[in-house]
This record gives sequence, C-alpha cells and structure tokens, in this order.
Amino acid sequence: MYRNFKVVPRVIFGRGCFKQLDDILAEQRPDADAFMVFIVDNVFENKPLKDRLPLKGKDLVLWADVTDEPKTTYVDALVEKIRTYSDKLPCGIIGIGGGSAMDLGKAVSLMLTNPGSAADYQGWDLIKIPAIYHVGIPTLSGTGAEISRTTVLTGPEKKLGINSDYTVFDQMVLDPELIEDVPVDQWFYTGMDCYIHCVESLTGTYLNAFSQSFGEKSIDLCREVFLENPSDSNDKLMMASYFGGMSIAYSQVGIAHAMSYGLSFVLGTHHGIGNSIVFDYLEDYYPEGVAEFRQMLKKHNVSLPRGLVKDLEPEQLDIMINVALGLVPLWENALGKDWKNIMTKNRIKELYLKM
Ligand code: NAD
Ligand code: ZN
Repeated sequence: MYRNFKVVPRVIFGRGCFKQLDDILAEQRPDADAFMVFIVDNVFENKPLKDRLPLKGKDLVLWADVTDEPKTTYVDALVEKIRTYSDKLPCGIIGIGGGSAMDLGKAVSLMLTNPGSAADYQGWDLIKIPAIYHVGIPTLSGTGAEISRTTVLTGPEKKLGINSDYTVFDQMVLDPELIEDVPVDQWFYTGMDCYIHCVESLTGTYLNAFSQSFGEKSIDLCREVFLENPSDSNDKLMMASYFGGMSIAYSQVGIAHAMSYGLSFVLGTHHGIGNSIVFDYLEDYYPEGVAEFRQMLKKHNVSLPRGLVKDLEPEQLDIMINVALGLVPLWENALGKDWKNIMTKNRIKELYLKM
C-alpha cells in the first residue's frame, strides 16, 4: 500500500514575510469576537518579536516553556488554560518557535476538538475530529516539524507522536529573518537533525524517487550552509528543513534517530543534540555521512558532550536499549529485513556505552 499523505496546503516564504501574518489570519477570523491563540517559545518574551505579533481584540498569547521537550501533560495544561480563558473555541492556533513550540501548537489545536488527554492519541491515526485551524512559524530550522504529520510528545508511558492527517499545519510561514539570532550550538544541532534526516533517508532501504528528490536537494543545501557559509544561509537552511521533512515523510529515518529516542527517553537529551551525539559513533553504518558530519563539527567548532551513558544503572541502560530497538521501521529502513541479526542487544549496548 502506498501512503496517501497530506502536506501543508499554504506556504509563504521570504525575508520579512512574517509581516503578512496579520492579513493571513484576517481571513480566518469570522467576527470581532473570535480570538486566536499564539503559542510562542518564551525565548521571545523579551525580544522584539513580541511586539510584532499581530494581536487583535481577545487574542491570547501563551509563552511556551521548552526547557523540556513537549510532554502530554503540558499540552493538557495549555488546553485547560484556553478552556478557562473562554467558553468558545479559538478560531486559530499559531505555533511560533523551534520544533518544540510548533509541536505544542499542533497538539493544542488537536486537543481542543478531541476529548481526553493528549496521551490517548499517541500513535497513528487515532485522531478522529479535525483540529482548529493551525499555523506553524519556525524560528529555528532543521526538524521539519513545519511540514510533518506528527507532533512528538513524551507521555506517561512512551515518547511517541500524534501522527495524523489532522496534525498537519494549515499554513506555514517561512521567514528566514526569524532564525537569524539562534545561538551557534543550537543552530548546529537542529541543522544536523536535518542533515541526518537526509543521510538516513538517502541510504535507507525504503528509498524511492520521491524521497530521493527531496533528500538530495536538502542535503546539498545542508552542505552549502554548514561547509560553505553562503550569504543566504538562513534562507537555504529553512528550505533544507522543509525538503528534509518531505524526504522522510515518504521514507523513514534510521539508526541515529532510533538510538537518540533511547537517550531522550532515559536522559531527557534533546532531539538535535541527541542525534548528533549518536551519529558520531555510526561510521560503520553511514561512513560518508559521518565523515562529512565531522567536517561540519570541526568547521563550527562544536564539541559534543561525551560520557553520558557509561555510568548509567544497568536497568536504565536496558530501558534505553528497548526503547531504541522498539522502533522497528527505523531499523528495517536502515539495515533491511534482517536487521535483528545485525543490531543485536550486545551490539547496541556496545555502541551506547561509547557515548
Ligand atoms: P527546540 O524547539 O526544542 O528549541 C531549542 C532551543 O532553541 C530552545 O531553548 C528554544 O527556546 C531556542 N530557540 C528557538 N528559536 C530560537 C531563536 N530564534 N533564537 C534563540 N533561541 C531560539 O529545538 P528544535 O531542535 O527545533 O526542536 C526539537 C523538538 O522538535 C523536539 O521536541 C523534537 O521531538 C521535535 N521534533 C519534531 C518533529 C516533527 O516532525 N514534529 C521532528 C523532529 C523533531
Ligand atoms: Zn529528527
């Protein structure tokens, strides 16, 4: 069966296009009483972007704390805040920030119309009622969250996205000026998420012409951004993120992502940095990708954290291994149908203990 997947229907791209957000939202406001909710990364609470939000009448701004990657309990709390604020549903949710704030925007827009807790919907196509109109505006590029059909959440039992066609944004606003002031390390780690998406997609057994077309363009853009430093680097990184997301939407990620999920589940390691930590030890599986990644690391003088796993309790290491090995499609994409004979518990343990 081929996947018939939904993409974001409306995209605006260009330096300064954030200015047009007011006009874009105007079309979605049915009357003067209707309100929108802006879920904004709280890194902007005291930045000029705060005064550029096109707020009207009863619009509500919720500053998102992304110290921890989004949890289902946090989504539930934000939904509760909005319900307490008004008896009516908002006419739009605008998620502004990196992958975390955008994912919160997606999840809140879904949970305002679907009953229960966000934790009830972690999985595939469990959402049955369309979301509130929702917009994604990246201020950090690489995850591809702006295009994907998932919102990655940590719940009481698992770290798993709410994957559904309703999760997909109705609109994205890609303004390269918004990613100008990201600190170098964060810029690098989230950018490497994109680079690793491409390597894992392009070398995977699930590869097809669709994924290859987007993946090749995206990896070329990553090479320019991280090895050549072009003057329009931010524009290119934004497009790389979008295309990288399109590439994996029709293929799959691989070993770095599977193992990074394990790190994240047990140690709370964030996605971009976790992928980078793992990828550095995967030269047996992605030799060219890892060599190029190291060139990029060197060029930007980024030093990866080391020694995260070696002092873990054996039970915790076991959980880490089980979480990683549970991501069957990722392993199958990376190593083929016979993956269980290649990535044994001992082998993955050996890899983790180096980190
Ligand atoms: P992030 O959103 O967690 O943000 C990382 C840090 O950068 C935060 O401290 C944030 O405040 C800061 N930041 C964001 N924009 C900034 C700016 N313009 N200037 C200064 N600081 C800024 O990081 P991320 O790597 O973009 O996203 C990771 C999250 O995305 C994880 O929760 C991961 O699970 C999720 N993710 C989702 C998908 C998807 O398809 N939905 C894909 C990959 C990852
Ligand atoms: Zn990723």
